[in-house]
Amino acid sequence: GRRILIVGGGLAGSRTCEALRAEGFDGEIEMLCSEGTPPYDRPPLSKVALTERRDTTFDVDYDALGVDLRLGVRATGMDRDRRVVFTDSGEHPYDALVVATGAAPVILPGSGRQHVLRTAADADVLRAALRPGTRLTLVGAGWINAEIATTAHDLGCSVTVLESAPAPLHQPLGPDVAHRMLPWWEHVDMRCGVSVAEVTEAGPVLADGSLVESDLVVTGIGVRPDVAWLVGSGLDIDRGVVVDERLRTADPAVFAVGDVAARWSPRYRSRIVGQHWDDARTAPATIAAALLRPDRGLVFDPVPYFWSDQFGHKIQFVGHRDPSDRIVFREGGDGRWAAAWIDDSSRLTAHLSVDSPRHMVQARMAIDRGAVVDPDAIGDLDAPVHTM
Ligand code: FAD
Repeated sequence: GRRILIVGGGLAGSRTCEALRAEGFDGEIEMLCSEGTPPYDRPPLSKVALTERRDTTFDVDYDALGVDLRLGVRATGMDRDRRVVFTDSGEHPYDALVVATGAAPVILPGSGRQHVLRTAADADVLRAALRPGTRLTLVGAGWINAEIATTAHDLGCSVTVLESAPAPLHQPLGPDVAHRMLPWWEHVDMRCGVSVAEVTEAGPVLADGSLVESDLVVTGIGVRPDVAWLVGSGLDIDRGVVVDERLRTADPAVFAVGDVAARWSPRYRSRIVGQHWDDARTAPATIAAALLRPDRGLVFDPVPYFWSDQFGHKIQFVGHRDPSDRIVFREGGDGRWAAAWIDDSSRLTAHLSVDSPRHMVQARMAIDRGAVVDPDAIGDLDAPVHTM
């Protein structure tokens, strides 16, 4: 029988095990997990798990699936000619390899302690440290730090946020939406337009030399696909592991999925590094199909979806925004709002809704069918996103 090796035991790796068996694969499956724990869910780590201990381990029976789960085993390299992956504990052969090593947080220069939030262990450390009066400095006002700021403020920490852009979430959402969200941060000491040069024992030091004294520093300035172990593999790496719309690399025996993958999207005619939960959850079915039912030609090219819970709001973003797209704010009578992005032929490309899952679902369907919208009409939040 064939032997499939999965490197990385996160959401994408775990779902790959399930998808392979669901597709009828009866050969060997081995999964290498560098963390010493079985795969678990990460989104709760920056939400509920910061206030109470939560076990977010996936409810998957790997024995029943016949998966050889190798905990605490890290891949360090590979040889594609011999079809083996190297680890500290030896060589692991494969007939097909699925790269699912996720992404790792970027950190700043300096000798001071920088916390990050990526693993369950990171969440345990932060939960213990977030106490009333703790001077917490968050470097970066992105998705995860917005969620940490929310909880830390509720727990009575004194929260300072250092962000180099003019507003939080400026890069992913653009200036107009970012400014509209700025008031949500009113209860924290939000300093935009400042850049951190290094993190010292006493706290971050800004580019102008000033020190932001801190008890605890969390760096949340983004993540990078975890590809260090693939240097020298000959695989094409461009931010992530380059794959096509069937998640195949140029080597027919090697696939990549989840946060580590840079996949081609025919829909957007561009390479997407997803880094969203929904992507890692749904993409593995395409690998299983590519390996076991190649005749079906199953392509992975969904309308991307991402959510965040911050400052008492549920934000849901669907689609893919091009910086040149025009933004249309959608206003509801009750103070609720959303934002829609359209391209120069009035096609809906992306949509952000606040506290309104219904609008997200409508927009996702409209984007999926390539809807052309009337920018004036959709300014009313309660107007349907019609196809003209
Ligand atoms: P990961 O979950 O990162 O799993 C990869 C695994 O591979 C890790 O366990 C890693 O240790 C292991 N690994 C790495 N290198 C090696 C190696 N060389 N050998 C063996 N194993 C290795 N997304 C949303 O859409 N909404 C949210 O609200 C949201 N909140 C989030 C909150 C937090 C705190 C975090 C960290 C992420 C959040 N995400 C959210 C993103 C989402 O969790 C990720 O997109 C998803 O976890 C990606 O799954 P993955 O399997 O590709 O990678």
